[in-house]
Amino acid sequence: GMPGHASDGLAPRRASRQVMVGDVPIGGSAPVSVQSMTTTVTADIDATLQQIAELTAAGCQIVRVAVPSADDAAALSVIARKSQIPVIADIHFQPRYVFAAINAGCAAVRVNPGNIKRFDDQVSQIARAAAGAGIPIRIGVNAGSLDPRLLARYGGVCAEALVESALWECSLFEEHDFQDLKISVKHHDPMVMVRAYRMLAERCDYPLHLGVTEAGPPPQGTVKSAVAFGILLAEGIGDTIRVSLSAPPVEEVTIGISILESLGLRERRLEIVSCPSCGRAQVDVYRLTDEVTAAFEGFPFPLRVAVMGCVVNGPGEAREADIGVSCGNGKGQIFVKGKVIRTVPESKIVETLLDEALALAPDAAGE
Ligand code: SF4
Repeated sequence: GMPGHASDGLAPRRASRQVMVGDVPIGGSAPVSVQSMTTTVTADIDATLQQIAELTAAGCQIVRVAVPSADDAAALSVIARKSQIPVIADIHFQPRYVFAAINAGCAAVRVNPGNIKRFDDQVSQIARAAAGAGIPIRIGVNAGSLDPRLLARYGGVCAEALVESALWECSLFEEHDFQDLKISVKHHDPMVMVRAYRMLAERCDYPLHLGVTEAGPPPQGTVKSAVAFGILLAEGIGDTIRVSLSAPPVEEVTIGISILESLGLRERRLEIVSCPSCGRAQVDVYRLTDEVTAAFEGFPFPLRVAVMGCVVNGPGEAREADIGVSCGNGKGQIFVKGKVIRTVPESKIVETLLDEALALAPDAAGE
């Protein structure tokens, strides 16, 4: 059936209104999208566009760039025009950069109106400018951007305070009839974050941008995001995701896509089914798996490849793979759809797998 339906073990998707970030729909029935953020100085246009190109190649669908200075704001029009994917300008305190981003053709702006409310009528002007340009605004609340009054009332950062803060920020735009919003309520603790998004999901119909903020380096950050997104997406909550890692952003995209694939929310492109190895292994399973993974990177159609360390359980364990190998005595038994078709020396395993996989093309394409 269709990915994400209850029959696949996931709750029905929460009904949310849809916004468009450039040509990427977010919310409603749109597939959950993957986004990331550049780490370059935005004003360094070449470096930023280079990183955006790498993110695009990795499957990133939307990219956010930080706009802390006037130079960054001035770079936005070239970046927005040349980027292959929609660009969101991330702005914290300076309303004038919000207008610059909108005029530059950015596909959305992330800004918390609470931060700029003190500039009296700026919120209404931003609402009018965004509406005029037809772009949405993301309200992104986290510990660092929590309204001080809420911090005081709740005695610190908690899920309730994050939600209260986000809904208050939304109300500042709603007062000006602007509802083209998406929201995030991020926290470094995945379970606080999960609670916050659950509450938010009940209290509004805006599309939700999932993120565990300051999740840390991999593997800790990876696991935190996978656990939190897994829980929420299985409950039908979440419309776009960003994995935050203290690591190059391409890694955030790879992991984000992998999380969606694991939930069945996206068709898996390449799946490596490799055994963990054990005392029976007759080959270096880790090395062979690395070689196979590298050889199949960018393979033109979805494929499940099995790498088994011994012949004891090889084809049996990998019956559901399209293709695979089980090793023994310096040789590899190559199997296709669970049946051994050839035996080759270890040095020929990778190329034989590739050949046999390519021969499967019409089959796989017809699936
Ligand atoms: Fe062990 Fe063989 Fe299973 Fe790998 S395939 S885990 S080597 S029994």
